[in-house]
Amino acid sequence: MADYQAVMMGSPIRLSLSQENPQRAREVFQLIKQQEALLTVNRADSLLMTVNRAAGLHPVVVPNAIFQLVSLARQVSLLPGSLFNLAIGPLVKAWRIGFSGQCPPPSRQIDKALALVDPHDIQLDPDTHSIFLRKPGMEIDLGAIAKGYIADKVCQYLQSQQEPYALINLGGNIHTLSRPVDHPWQIGLRKPFSSPHTLSARLAVSGRSVVTSGIYERYFLHQQRCYHHILDSRTGYPLDNDLLSVTVVSESSLIGDIYSTLLYGMGVEQSLAWLAHHPEIEAVMITRRNQIICSSQHHFQCHVLDLNQ
Ligand code: ADP
Ligand code: MG
Repeated sequence: MADYQAVMMGSPIRLSLSQENPQRAREVFQLIKQQEALLTVNRADSLLMTVNRAAGLHPVVVPNAIFQLVSLARQVSLLPGSLFNLAIGPLVKAWRIGFSGQCPPPSRQIDKALALVDPHDIQLDPDTHSIFLRKPGMEIDLGAIAKGYIADKVCQYLQSQQEPYALINLGGNIHTLSRPVDHPWQIGLRKPFSSPHTLSARLAVSGRSVVTSGIYERYFLHQQRCYHHILDSRTGYPLDNDLLSVTVVSESSLIGDIYSTLLYGMGVEQSLAWLAHHPEIEAVMITRRNQIICSSQHHFQCHVLDLNQ
């Protein structure tokens, strides 16, 4: 097995291939770079920022794959009770969590952002593949799903190159292609708010994606309160519930990325009820009381390591 590393999308990226192949690793990193250039909102010249800059002005035609991704994200945002919102951009920028934000923005700034986050105001034209944001100042933010989308692309590419097995880790968003001959992939789940090497659990998977949405990676503390990066577009503040993290094990990393955010928003009870009817998606949740709750384990095994939970 050979490991390759890079820093992209503001995150450490790790690629494991079945054997040394620096050329293939370069191609994978190139693919990630190309996709990031389309989807990031942290660079003024990305395709998505071109769509955002045209808000209130005119529609922008995008490639089919990006149109389909935005359509899916809009659909998920409009599900009844969904806390996922692809139009959340103005609120994300107001909070600047993980960048320079160290205290909550003034409430008038939150109110201003909240007037610009209705997914209904994103107009999609399937005939021309164009996207139009009706109000000036609106911004699509695909931060919650871009890594999953890109991880799927990487796995599809590696599969097309007949790579027998591989693992891609995009800043904690993991996808695996098959498994090494003699054992499944072992994926550690970090213990929330502990040192990076302390694990709550270890998941054994093969050919599945493992994606976590948690509140302990990007957050700041202000007057003894924790403000994290998953925001609630009803209140304008970070989501507040009984969960520290949700890890989704699924076949597609895009689906895993969507549902890790959606389930995080639902909380424990509602998530478990939903998962019981969707056996293709499985999840491990860590609660504020440090309980580790697994929905089902048909496609992976969860070994709990944190016995002080
Ligand atoms: P990460 O992998 O960086 O932890 P997540 O998948 O948990 O990311 O999604 C968090 C990111 O999604 C935020 O940094 C922001 O860009 C965006 N975001 C924040 N709140 C929401 C929301 N309610 N719906 C959709 N996207 C959101
Ligand atoms: Mg996500």
